Amino acid sequence: MGEWKRPEYLIRLVLVVVLALFGLTRLPPKSVPSSGDLQLPGVEGEKLVALTFDDGPRPGTTDCLLDGLAQRGVKATFFLVGTQISYAPELVERMVREGHQIGVHTLEHTAVAGLSREEFAHQVEGTRRWLCQLVGERELWLRPPYGIVDEHTAQWADSPIVLWSVDPEDWRDTDTRRITQHLLTHTGDGDIILLHDIYPSSVDSALAAVDGLRERGFRFVTVEQLLERRGIVPQNGQIYRQAG
Ligand SMILES: [Zn+2]
Repeated sequence: MGEWKRPEYLIRLVLVVVLALFGLTRLPPKSVPSSGDLQLPGVEGEKLVALTFDDGPRPGTTDCLLDGLAQRGVKATFFLVGTQISYAPELVERMVREGHQIGVHTLEHTAVAGLSREEFAHQVEGTRRWLCQLVGERELWLRPPYGIVDEHTAQWADSPIVLWSVDPEDWRDTDTRRITQHLLTHTGDGDIILLHDIYPSSVDSALAAVDGLRERGFRFVTVEQLLERRGIVPQNGQIYRQAG
């Protein structure tokens, strides 16, 4: 009796499996969880900008900057020099506690282009290990000093590489007015601004520009949030200059 039913059973089973597979392939793509969306309620046509500060932390200037950013509820990104961390570990802890993004700017502010694999590891991975010991395991993106990269930088970075799209050359002079004016004139949606929190004039300019740009409808986010907000999935070894 059951012998003639067996092939039919098998055919049905095959059909069920085929239909199930077909159904699976037609499922909508899985949505990528986005913590930034939860933190940042979306605004149609919002203008976003990322402030980044290199070469610190430096006691006396970085703390003033952190005070000013906290008063304004603004989050920024800090690319830290390894040797500077020992002078002010509490400032790095404060950055993390207050919701800023931190990344590495090598151990000794060394240009990474032309380094051997070992030298690169010492400068970049050495600083990462140090920072992770201080503030816990986390992703630490790379900003290469002077913005100079070579073919090995992408290969060895082991993180996204962040450059910039607005540079007032704040190291050139201490002219707060000029630097602020540059920022107000050149900043557009999606820009990544390069500044250095080791100069009092840069701190003053940054805070003045924050006030001016906020009046024009800009919102300040970390680089990570900026990319996330624009639907860009950060890739290791990829260079990011802006997210317009
Ligand atoms: Zn630098």
